[in-house]
Amino acid sequence: MSGDSAIGDGPIGIVGGGPTGALLAILLQARGHSQIDLYESRADPRLSKGESGRSINLALADRGIHALKTAGVFERLGASLLPMRGRCIHHLDGRTTFQPYGRLPNEVNYSVSRFKLNQGLIDIAAGLAGIRVHFEHRLDAVDFAQQTASIRDLRAGRSVQVPMRPLLAADGAGSIMRRRMREAHIIDAQELDLEHGYKELSVPPARGGGVFAGDALHIWPRGNFMLIALPNDDGSFTATLFLPKRGATSFESLQDAHAIETFLSRSFPDAYAAMPDCVSEFKAHPVGFLGTVSAGPWHASGQALLIGDAAHAMVPFHGQGMNCCFEDCIELDRCAARHTSWQAAFSEFDAARKPDADAISAMALENYLEMREHVADPKFQLQQALSLELERRFPRRFIPRYSMVMFHHEIPYRTARQRGSTQAAILAELTAGTVASLTDVDFCRAEREIEARLEPL
Ligand SMILES: Cc1cc2nc3c(=O)[nH]c(=O)nc-3n(C[C@H](O)[C@H](O)[C@H](O)COP(=O)(O)OP(=O)(O)OC[C@H]3O[C@@H](n4cnc5c(N)ncnc54)[C@H](O)[C@@H]3O)c2cc1C
Repeated sequence: MSGDSAIGDGPIGIVGGGPTGALLAILLQARGHSQIDLYESRADPRLSKGESGRSINLALADRGIHALKTAGVFERLGASLLPMRGRCIHHLDGRTTFQPYGRLPNEVNYSVSRFKLNQGLIDIAAGLAGIRVHFEHRLDAVDFAQQTASIRDLRAGRSVQVPMRPLLAADGAGSIMRRRMREAHIIDAQELDLEHGYKELSVPPARGGGVFAGDALHIWPRGNFMLIALPNDDGSFTATLFLPKRGATSFESLQDAHAIETFLSRSFPDAYAAMPDCVSEFKAHPVGFLGTVSAGPWHASGQALLIGDAAHAMVPFHGQGMNCCFEDCIELDRCAARHTSWQAAFSEFDAARKPDADAISAMALENYLEMREHVADPKFQLQQALSLELERRFPRRFIPRYSMVMFHHEIPYRTARQRGSTQAAILAELTAGTVASLTDVDFCRAEREIEARLEPL
């Protein structure tokens, strides 16, 4: 992969050793850069077991896998991936229904612990000549006139001035670099909080294994809130409760053990039975914030660039945040190879990625409603089944939007969103009125509409 960089081999700083910063360092090193300093505010993740209640299992999909393969690191990380074939919906009356993610056997997503994935990437980066990883080093301040950043060595208790030649900011949704760029009027940026927060709960191996299918993402959709659970390789599941932060049924209103127990046992009876520690975990674990970051432009001339969640954090309901970040890394590496200055590379990166980041952020918000509400609706289920059938009949023109996003890295997010809205209109027309099953669908009309409104891919 990679090859020589068109930009000369000078010092590069990266702030944030999360999935984005670590993968970016690996790619730039392979491109021939040999003076990369990676600054991470937390301690070395290889020396810790992770924060309780903050483990987060992620769905890794085709785009993320493609990026990891391009970087040549997929083989080393692949062992910790668990395939998920679809969604298992847990209804309130105890029934479960399975909705496959795709039509083909290889159309699966993978459950992976964010912490383990991050540990693996940091381990690879730290082992490469030319990359120096500085843990417990936090970006505090930026001086754009002097082209320097102030980085605090938290162990030594002193700050060092680092030249921005350039400084790539992969410091996550709460990015300090983004806030400093906005304060300096270099960019516009908005942070839009969702009214829902999240809390992590756990299903231990003895309760999860055998009871819940290990090859599915489990969802308990309940309208204004929902629970999801992703499998781990020991038979346990990591569950996440999404609930309004304030209001009648909310994290704020559920304070005492009795109220928490009543809420969990009534809303998710089978999950409650499988989570013996859920009440104590509910009380102990923090409420995580969710939101969308919208910023632009993403760079300060050739000095600094926002990348990953720092540029475009999104709500997690399409399972694409990190996948999108990994695509960013591949794109920046490509831009760096095509230009002789960072400024030109940043401009091209911004122009290439911003429309796609905007599209997936919007689709993630749309999926929010789909997961907590629509998945349990029979009309929605019919449209899902019809979209897979239309793909089978017209594979060159009709690919379900979910599949375009999750299984087709070659289709840009913006294209998936545009075609997805045309397809949604066609699905609504074909299932309107009394149409209740696939046998009621007029497939001659479907063919006419698809040929008229969807160009071949
Ligand atoms: C509940 C939840 C579920 C999710 N599910 C999925 C999913 O299924 N699939 C998916 O693809 N994505 C998912 N995501 C999104 C995914 O976690 C993020 O997109 C991804 O972690 C972003 O990576 P990043 O490296 O850009 O930022 P981060 O992961 O936030 O990493 C930023 C790093 O920068 C460090 N840092 C921060 N500030 C400073 C500073 N001032 N100085 C130095 N270092 C700093 C932090 O310690 C951290 O290590 C989910 C997110 C949440 C919250």
